[in-house]
Amino acid sequence: MPIDATKPYDDDNIFAKILREEIPSTKVYEDEWAYAFEDINPQAENHTLVIPKGRYVSWDDFSASASAEEIAGFVRAVGHVAREKGLVEPGYRALANVGPHAGQEVPHLHVHIFGGEPLGPMIWKR
Ligand code: AMP
Repeated sequence: MPIDATKPYDDDNIFAKILREEIPSTKVYEDEWAYAFEDINPQAENHTLVIPKGRYVSWDDFSASASAEEIAGFVRAVGHVAREKGLVEPGYRALANVGPHAGQEVPHLHVHIFGGEPLGPMIWKR
């Protein structure tokens, strides 16, 4: 069910629980700013999620309210994970869904990293 990305942060969302290690995840990478783990329902050969450690509902919330340090740390973590996974050549896709039109389901910012195979068109066309 897509979320309303304008709502306040919900500490009971599933990725908050993953950060608190209340539910399991397959860890890919972690640093001061970010945590990366395998998507439970992969949509490509490689499908990793990268989330900030801070309490941000979406890319919109994060880009408006996070500190410069948090933004730099998170963006570097996304790039690092893709490099560590060997995805830079022949390429990968980084994607953040924001709100209902994009189908965002979990109200904690996450960047999807897709790779390991040709990914098809950028967006579904009618
Ligand atoms: P989005 O639609 O952009 O909000 O993406 C949410 C993603 O979270 C989906 O790709 C789900 O497969 C993934 N997901 C949901 N629950 C878990 C979980 N417990 N562990 C790993 N990935 C999850």
